Amino acid sequence: MSSVLILGAGPAGLAAARAARRRGASVTLVDSSEQLGGQFWRHLPAERPAARERILHHGWDTFRALQAQLVADDGCRILTSASVFAIDATASPSTTGTGPGRVHVIVGPSDGTGRERIELLPDAIVLATGAHDRTLPFPGWDLPGVFTGGAAQALAKGERLAVGAHVVVAGAGPFLLPVAASLAATGSRVLGVFESSRLSSLVRGWLPRPWQLLPAAKKGAELAGYIGGQLKSRIPYTTGASVIAAHGTDRVESVTVASLDKNWTPVAGTERTLAVDAVCVSHGFTPRLELAIAAGCQITDERFVAVDDAQATSVPGVYAAGEITGIGGVDLALAEGALAGHAAAGGNPFDLPGEVRKRRIYEGFARRIEAAHGIRPGWPDMVTDDTIVCRCEEVSFGALCSTAESTASTSLRSLKLTTRAGLGICQGRVCGRSLEQLIARRLPGNTLGDTVSTDRRPIAVPLRLGELAAAARPTDPSPTTPTPLADPPKGPTS
Ligand SMILES: Cc1cc2nc3c(=O)[nH]c(=O)nc-3n(C[C@H](O)[C@H](O)[C@H](O)COP(=O)(O)OP(=O)(O)OC[C@H]3O[C@@H](n4cnc5c(N)ncnc54)[C@H](O)[C@@H]3O)c2cc1C
Repeated sequence: MSSVLILGAGPAGLAAARAARRRGASVTLVDSSEQLGGQFWRHLPAERPAARERILHHGWDTFRALQAQLVADDGCRILTSASVFAIDATASPSTTGTGPGRVHVIVGPSDGTGRERIELLPDAIVLATGAHDRTLPFPGWDLPGVFTGGAAQALAKGERLAVGAHVVVAGAGPFLLPVAASLAATGSRVLGVFESSRLSSLVRGWLPRPWQLLPAAKKGAELAGYIGGQLKSRIPYTTGASVIAAHGTDRVESVTVASLDKNWTPVAGTERTLAVDAVCVSHGFTPRLELAIAAGCQITDERFVAVDDAQATSVPGVYAAGEITGIGGVDLALAEGALAGHAAAGGNPFDLPGEVRKRRIYEGFARRIEAAHGIRPGWPDMVTDDTIVCRCEEVSFGALCSTAESTASTSLRSLKLTTRAGLGICQGRVCGRSLEQLIARRLPGNTLGDTVSTDRRPIAVPLRLGELAAAARPTDPSPTTPTPLADPPKGPTS
């Protein structure tokens, strides 16, 4: 019997855990959140349950079934409020001699004291750490009241909190629609949704070979639900436009909205002002790659974890699934998770033809999302010298440029060290990719002088020095000697 460690309990991690258990592996499922479900099924805690949870989430029954099966299963050890802070790929292998390394975990609430360090030496790892949302910088985006779409969504789903009374949603991608829906459901008046991509780009991205969308009809139904909700709440949806500046003294009081050309450069003369008390901005997602990089996995040119048909990474014994292999939504995450868990427990992906088929369908969906809503090169034209690029360390674009000039530096590493951009509390999660692009854009060939990536974080989560110095408790990789989880008699696997 092998031991499989699954990092992340979102849709991909949950599906991986169930598939690995069905193959008879002993599973440990680790997530830094207090509860299972990841970003998609973020919900109120068990002590404050919501009566309407089922209608607030797509696929809620799928989540409940996964959760119930895994929680009741002796062969699946679940560690919540447990953050993986490092993977030591050079450590001695597991008891079977084939493991991918030592995994370091800190257990306890993120801001709590008395947290415990544990170490795990599994036979195989499934990385399912998901993504965080990306927001491009613009003047005023550092004002209180400007939220990422993901933060607004997390507050709405996880706390039932509305971020403001009069809110604008802007950015790019289908994610803007659930954000607007959640805001409306929590009582905000959404003044408009502004999609940066022009209608022509949306048509070019979404409509080629439309028959290929048919197997993903469920997504169409979801979309129709959001459009219906927007019409009911009278929320205007504008394409080829975005928030290009936020204004206010202590917090946001208004925003400037302008039309964008096909490269997302603002079109002069189209600006208008809207009075708001909150703005939610999201330009897609950035995969959380730090653990994959620590494990030594190959990363693609598009900056996702490279995987094969079995969801195996370039490192033996390490598999990856969900948003870290490409941004494709919950259905792709579920299919990839099932295949990764199955393969990590020694199975062949072609034992699960239904999941292979779903993966193919939703990969096509992911390609359309990128083609229609992917970030275009003109966005830096929104950024002025005064625009704060790194919000944690309050580094402006002007300061970055003048430092680059005075030090004649072309290296991201050197600019990070001299300006502290990307070195604050979020460790470049919010600004890192934008920082790389803004600096590279000023250099010959649009290329940085080094190959440093803002995705590399040797310590993946904030840790106290005392916790780092404390002795770790080695943990038995096998929670018990489990019998395989039974397959369902019939019906959908997810
Ligand atoms: C903020 C946010 C909100 C979203 N809301 C929606 C929505 O409302 N509707 C929608 O269609 N899509 C939404 N998405 C997209 C959605 O998250 C994905 O389609 C889907 O959840 C991907 O599943 P996943 O399992 O790959 O990742 P996730 O669901 O993100 O799960 C990853 C899990 O890994 C855990 N993790 C990460 N790093 C560590 C670590 N170092 N140690 C321990 N645990 C770790 C995280 O806590 C998380 O639970 C949202 C995405 C984000 C970032």
